[in-house]
Amino acid sequence: MQGLTGTIKFDNQGFRTNFLLEVIELSKEGLQKIGTWNSTEGINFTRTYGEAYTQIVESLMNKTFVVCTLLSSPYIMRKDSSEKLVGNDQFEGYSVDLINEISKILGFNYTLKLVPDGRYGSLNRQTNEWDGMVRELLDQKADLVLADLTITYDREQAVDFTMPFMNLGISILYRKPIKQPPNLFSFLSPLSLDVWIYMATAYIGVSLLLFILARFTPYEWQNPHPCNPDPEQLENQFSLVNCLWFAIGSLMQQGCDFLPKAVSTRMVAGMWWFFTLIMISSYTANLAAFLTVERMDSPIESAEDLAKQTKIKYGALKGGSTVAFFRDSNISTYQRMWSFMEATRPSVFTDSNSEGVERVIKGKGNYAFLMESTSIEYVVERNCDLTQVGGLLDSKGYGIAMPPNSPYRTALSGAVLKLQEEGRLHILKTRWWKEKRGGGSCRDDTSKSSSAANELGLANVGGVFVVLMGGMGFACVIAVCEFIWKSRKVAVEERVNKLPFSYKDHNLVKDN
Ligand code: GLU
Repeated sequence: MQGLTGTIKFDNQGFRTNFLLEVIELSKEGLQKIGTWNSTEGINFTRTYGEAYTQIVESLMNKTFVVCTLLSSPYIMRKDSSEKLVGNDQFEGYSVDLINEISKILGFNYTLKLVPDGRYGSLNRQTNEWDGMVRELLDQKADLVLADLTITYDREQAVDFTMPFMNLGISILYRKPIKQPPNLFSFLSPLSLDVWIYMATAYIGVSLLLFILARFTPYEWQNPHPCNPDPEQLENQFSLVNCLWFAIGSLMQQGCDFLPKAVSTRMVAGMWWFFTLIMISSYTANLAAFLTVERMDSPIESAEDLAKQTKIKYGALKGGSTVAFFRDSNISTYQRMWSFMEATRPSVFTDSNSEGVERVIKGKGNYAFLMESTSIEYVVERNCDLTQVGGLLDSKGYGIAMPPNSPYRTALSGAVLKLQEEGRLHILKTRWWKEKRGGGSCRDDTSKSSSAANELGLANVGGVFVVLMGGMGFACVIAVCEFIWKSRKVAVEERVNKLPFSYKDHNLVKDN
């Protein structure tokens, strides 16, 4: 029969069949029909996606969300204030500004609440239970989670995420490499030890060859008295000592007052000059780099370096996505790192990022902290003794989390994208990373050190002075030896035991 609600039909047992229900929703305007349901075709929404979206956005208006979060600089921090602050006023940071901007776009209110256990959210695989902020969502104690919460596969299975509002990757926080005091003999650095040895050998070899060839060739034997056309003896200027003097004079770019005359010896000299030209030019070109570049001593430069050693301990935040990355990784280096982290006692895991930073500072090079790159950026901007080592080990993002199948996901994602496209997210990042709370304090430091690097101190070139002084001292010792040697010889020749030797006695000085 036809009733007020349509066809009314009963089956044999007296149950209603083939009936139609209207699906209605309570909206601001009262009850509204949004679809129908019948026992043969099931549900059929008559509302379009656009209408549904508008209704969701409308339903967001003036709603108050409980936003669960966790103290982590610079996302959520307690405000410095002499007065006792309550509610949302207690907090400030990137996430507070972000939720503020989103709430302005979508028109909702929010109450910030800290997660009781201070955890981000990890799945206990034995009990299949979540902890931290993810647990708060699942237990319906919070409507949204806004923190530096990484979007991971496991979490995505349990809760919903918006589009990422920040991109990052895992990296290593470590102390800055210690500046090595410049080496006193850094003038030797442009050439390797092998090259110095080869050069010394070449010097002796060339001097000897010059000596032998000069003896051998007839054109190096000269008449000592050009006025006498038929001398009894010919003279050769290339004695062994003179050969050594000639070669060192050329090597030092100074030359000397005698030169080869025969083609063979000139050939030796020419080739030796060519050799010295190239060696000295190469040395000079390399010297500038070696004297001005500061030497840094860093024991680790990448995650591979960390994995290879056991002296420097390393760890990560307990129950976070970084730990999960190492635990679940299939890459052998990261597996090795995970086994090492797990086996190390006392535990290398920390309860918060700030505890990790503390440990790196106190560890004085014996502890490295695996942390997310954005947090590292924040820390190194303020703590000039710390730095990021190596690149990113992975790539991921932070998102706003909400209960599974939340109707607000699209609206919130839209708001995040809008803020990103308008450049607001970039402005917020600059504000909280580079400006507020001591941002930029390490930038002056780098400019100072780079200008100081251009100037060479005594520590850089001191070795040259040492060599000069050593040479002068050695020359004095040789002069004394020469003096004693000559005195002895004269005394023996004249059979007198008279010391010291007098220049006057031996007509070396002419008396006026
Ligand atoms: N952002 C991480 C998370 O959501 C916490 C920090 C970390 O694990 O390094 O779990």
